[in-house]
Amino acid sequence: MSLNGIYDSENIFAQILRGDMPCVKLYEDEHTLAFLDVFPQSKGHTLVIPKNAQARNLLDIGESALAPLMHTVQRLTRAVNTALTPDGIVVTQFNGASAGQTVFHLHVHIIPRYESETLSVHAGGSMADIDELNALSAKIKAAL
Ligand code: AMP
Repeated sequence: MSLNGIYDSENIFAQILRGDMPCVKLYEDEHTLAFLDVFPQSKGHTLVIPKNAQARNLLDIGESALAPLMHTVQRLTRAVNTALTPDGIVVTQFNGASAGQTVFHLHVHIIPRYESETLSVHAGGSMADIDELNALSAKIKAAL
């Protein structure tokens, strides 16, 4: 059951949190980590995750960890808006494989939308160029 199951500490975001896997980091505080999606649906596709909660999805997380998570989501959404001036921004989150979830550590997507560009497929696009991600990261960090 992907919606109601046991947290697997070998999931890719847990590995990133432990420092076992790299990420293009945008922001980190005591409670949360934000980084760029490596299979981005658009330029600046950002992910925000809780650091201290073994939560597979929104159903699992306690209120005390949820509030700082959403605070960071708003902070990064504002920074993406300032840095990249998109035409719109989708903030979304999936619960369970049937809903489209592919990584089972709670995360919130911040996906800038540009009127002239179509979205890449969710979790199915090609891996982004690392130099491009680093350039986007520098811009977003400067707007935090
Ligand atoms: P979801 O399908 O909602 O679980 O979203 C998982 C997201 O994680 C997808 O958008 C993937 O492109 C992204 N993703 C998978 N592996 C990595 C990784 N190593 N670093 C950054 N993003 C990743």
